[in-house]
Amino acid sequence: MYLLGHPVAHSLSPAMHSAAFGALGLTHEYELRDVAPEDLAGAVDGLRSPDTLGANVTVPHKERIVPFLDAVAPEALRIGAVNTVVKTEDRLRGENTDRAGFTAALDESGVFVRGKRVLVLGAGGAARAVIIALTKGGARIEVANRTQARARLLASLFGVTAVAWPERLDGYDLVVNATSAGLHGEDPLAGMALPRKMVVVDLVPMREETVLLTRARAEGCVVVDGLLMLLHQAAGSFTLWTGREAPLEAMRAALPRMV
Ligand code: NAP
Repeated sequence: MYLLGHPVAHSLSPAMHSAAFGALGLTHEYELRDVAPEDLAGAVDGLRSPDTLGANVTVPHKERIVPFLDAVAPEALRIGAVNTVVKTEDRLRGENTDRAGFTAALDESGVFVRGKRVLVLGAGGAARAVIIALTKGGARIEVANRTQARARLLASLFGVTAVAWPERLDGYDLVVNATSAGLHGEDPLAGMALPRKMVVVDLVPMREETVLLTRARAEGCVVVDGLLMLLHQAAGSFTLWTGREAPLEAMRAALPRMV
């Protein structure tokens, strides 16, 4: 198995998948492949070799990989991004396990969204997966994005409400950071008070807790760490490749801060 991305060096996925293969006594290996955009077609073709079950896909290839695949699952098409490639015989199918991973992370954290007022930050593939999950869960969804036109487009496609980047968070039950702000120590909600008891979900999966989550915890919010979604989306990929239930606890133990 491979992770196709650019860059990929800091990924937590190899540790999780290696632990999963080990726990089930499987001999597969999971390798990082740093693929420049111009080399993507060749890298995808390489997945057709007999010893490969598939791959994970990350930034910046999740959207641009679609034309190189033989088929794309309906949910991945709706999200507009592929995070998992599954090889069956010599056909490559694109899948996306982020929506299910997000839902499982909320469930595990005891967070219920039905009827709740939720603000989603971001308008990329992660935001789309989150909006599909929250819609299924019956939440009342508002979306804001740095580039407002993208939020408006996404809102019209998914039947949710686009709002300007917030100045206050009063009235929201839950806020989801589905932007990449946080990867380099930024706080996407800097300068805004976080109401006590609000649920703060930060998708940015980091070895060290993000600045947003540390602040949310200190201000009395309920926090859901992107590492938990990372775990569950990886479990989904594992099952798609192997047909086996993922050994969740072995995978969890391979992540930082999860025990
Ligand atoms: P993407 O398609 O590249 O979208 C990036 C989004 O972040 C855009 O909405 C962009 O706004 C916004 N953004 C970037 N820098 C920003 C900043 N400094 N301030 C405010 N907004 C900013 O990426 P994606 O695939 O949706 O992923 C988004 C994040 O989710 C990444 O950090 C990724 O690692 C994470 N993620 C986590 C998991 C998990 O399992 N935990 C799964 C999927 C994704 P503009 O439109 O204005 O550029």
